[in-house]
Amino acid sequence: MGLLYLGTPLAWDDAKQYADHVRTHGITQFLHIWDNLKDRYGDELLWGDEVEYMVVAFDNEDKNAKLSLRQTEILAKLQSIVNDIAADSEDQASVPTFHPEYGRFMLESTPGSPYTGEVRDVLSVEENMRYRTLTANIRRRRGSKVAINLPLFIDDRTPRPFVDPTIPWQRSIYSEDPEARQGAALLDHIYMDAMGFGMGCSCLQLTFQSCNITHARRLYDALVPIAPIMLALTAASPLWRGYIADVDCRWDVVAASVDDRTEEERGLKPLKENRFRIPKSRYGSVSLYISDEWLNRPEYNDIEAPFDEAIFGRLQEHGIDAALAKHISHLFIRDPIVIFSETIHQDDKTSNDHFENIQSTNWQTVRFKPPPVNSPIGWRVEFRSMEVQPTDFENAAFAVFVVLLSRAILNYSLNLYVPISKVDENMARSQRRDAVNTEKFFFRKEVFPPGVPSPLSTPNSSGASSPIDPTGHAIPRPKSKKLGNCFAPAPKPDAGHELGPIDDEYDEYSLNEIFNGKGEAFPGLIQLIYAYLETIDISETERHRIDEYLDLIKRRASGALQTPATWIRNFVRSHPAYKFDSVVSQEINYDLMVAVDEIERGVRQAPEFIPPHHVKCKPNKTNGI
Ligand code: ADP
Ligand code: MG
Ligand code: MG
Ligand code: MG
Repeated sequence: MGLLYLGTPLAWDDAKQYADHVRTHGITQFLHIWDNLKDRYGDELLWGDEVEYMVVAFDNEDKNAKLSLRQTEILAKLQSIVNDIAADSEDQASVPTFHPEYGRFMLESTPGSPYTGEVRDVLSVEENMRYRTLTANIRRRRGSKVAINLPLFIDDRTPRPFVDPTIPWQRSIYSEDPEARQGAALLDHIYMDAMGFGMGCSCLQLTFQSCNITHARRLYDALVPIAPIMLALTAASPLWRGYIADVDCRWDVVAASVDDRTEEERGLKPLKENRFRIPKSRYGSVSLYISDEWLNRPEYNDIEAPFDEAIFGRLQEHGIDAALAKHISHLFIRDPIVIFSETIHQDDKTSNDHFENIQSTNWQTVRFKPPPVNSPIGWRVEFRSMEVQPTDFENAAFAVFVVLLSRAILNYSLNLYVPISKVDENMARSQRRDAVNTEKFFFRKEVFPPGVPSPLSTPNSSGASSPIDPTGHAIPRPKSKKLGNCFAPAPKPDAGHELGPIDDEYDEYSLNEIFNGKGEAFPGLIQLIYAYLETIDISETERHRIDEYLDLIKRRASGALQTPATWIRNFVRSHPAYKFDSVVSQEINYDLMVAVDEIERGVRQAPEFIPPHHVKCKPNKTNGI
């Protein structure tokens, strides 16, 4: 990840003067990549997960569980364990790697090398995650003060109105800034005033290499409406700063905590120093679809997404189509956050650091990743909305679900477009308490494009018509040995096919309907995955494993199993020391951390949350950190 580079970061006042330099050269670097790789075709499926961890230190005597700042020490220790595993392992590629993340209590881990489309590789995810230990989280510092107010979960005995007693009301920063003092902390809210409240916001991210740039753009767009739905299903962040919140997810908190927009950019003052009014934080949901295929109707991009006109013009002059040029010039309205004095001047043909500087500090729900220079890696898409789950079993289940869904999307040319404004509304809904059971989500009514038959209505579910034998029977196609990566585009509609009004294309669905189907009208995402799996050669054992994962997703979506957020909330509310006052005491927090650790290690059952027998013991090697 580009930004975690060891060098001498310039202070913001020095860095500011280089912002245009970074943008201009960043675009030059992108254009070099475009020129060299726009026609690259045929890359196989490679993919990988990233799991962010928060390091927790247990004090068993005082019954306290705190964030540990020993990132450096722990990384060194992990490295020696990883070296041990590597020495014992026949398969070097499966040994995971650990990297520092932004805060000193954060780590990130990725597989030692990306997975392929081989089914056995896909199913090695859980095993691989099992090597990575610990519980984790992201935190990001920002230069200026922020005010994050999260609605408090009001319990039977929560004092009303609730005034957070731990707010340092008298601290000088508040008297310097009467506005903040008067308006910043809201009643009945948990107040977080600055750096470090990225807590509870570990992500589970997945990156997929695409066959070519067109596939990457198609997949990117298809995953945009999937992002809020998966956020709701993975909700795992109901506790904040010692209180129970009335939301279940991290997304908006992280967005607020890294929101570096000025008052002008936020529309509070007329534009004078800054160039744009910017509706969203740089950590935010996607604002533009980017595919240049016909399914992407321009009307779907229906929210304000400012872009840099000069950069847009430069990209178009270079032959880049409007949809992609908009996307890049939209990302490039942001300033670089960190500039290292050693890397201001770069060879734009051999470096992509300036491009990555802006690209990788746009933390959107989905990221379109161009190939790095001088590397074998192709065009990729990163899916970034999911919350990290307490157990490897769940993390693996969600990783496997998304990789299979991405194949079903491409194989059946699934059309999942809904207007971006509706995706944003879904983002808001997905974070509400118990969204799985109480919210509905905008979703497309007809996901099969004209000319693409539903795989469930034809005996051969490959998505393509089968050859016919002399007796008139379809000859089954040979099954594929691995997950595909290069698929045909959606057939164009017949001449005269009328596209109806955008607002007739979607409806509101429960998560149960989206995943498990809604009568005849929509088979549900799970069935589409099973239809796709019919085209792949899978052993009984592999099939069983996949069933276990998909079953977790099914039952989460139907509400039969709780989300981690619900389970955690219930754990706190049923703890003997809980006073029904919304407060999570040190003791409750400790017991919760112990319980999570025990569930993950398989020594404690929580059948309302994880189906029994699914959590297996970790290899001994990683114990004792
Ligand atoms: P970032 O932090 O910028 O999102 P990382 O370098 O941490 O990216 O890697 C993201 C994921 O991409 C990792 O899981 C890694 O295994 C995976 N990966 C590496 N090479 C490829 C590739 N060629 N195609 C797809 N994924 C890849
Ligand atoms: Mg990473
Ligand atoms: Mg990360
Ligand atoms: Mg990532």
